[in-house]
Amino acid sequence: MSSADLRDLYQQVIMDHNKKPRNFREMGNANHLAHGNNPLCGDALVVFVKLDGDVIEDVSFQGSGCAISVASASLMTEALKGKTLTEAETLYESVHKQMTGEDIEQSALGKLEVLSGVKEFPARVKCATLSWHTMHAALDSDHDISVTTE
Ligand code: ZN
Repeated sequence: MSSADLRDLYQQVIMDHNKKPRNFREMGNANHLAHGNNPLCGDALVVFVKLDGDVIEDVSFQGSGCAISVASASLMTEALKGKTLTEAETLYESVHKQMTGEDIEQSALGKLEVLSGVKEFPARVKCATLSWHTMHAALDSDHDISVTTE
């Protein structure tokens, strides 16, 4: 994908997911959840996960934040549903590397490749990674925890 195409797609996808976030709901029967805060921007999200064995049966989020934080969380929930913990961990690492500018195999990301567009806005990288850090913390813990972007 050319960088101009990626920029257009990035804008479209962020706008769409911000306007109509997927899986934007509280999950009463979640068995993992975490609160994520990005004080630099004021993004505050809660990520809910329902694990069945090592499969992510359901994942959702709530909260408020800028367009990028909401869209990234929305894309994340779509990507993670039905994944195993190992697959989720691999995806987390790939997305993190991609958004912080490391070269990775783009085909590993599929639709999430669009998130790499955030590299052009370095101040917003923490907005885009927030939901991923929060999801990672939720899976690592069996009680409600809070994470803050570094
Ligand atoms: Zn933000």
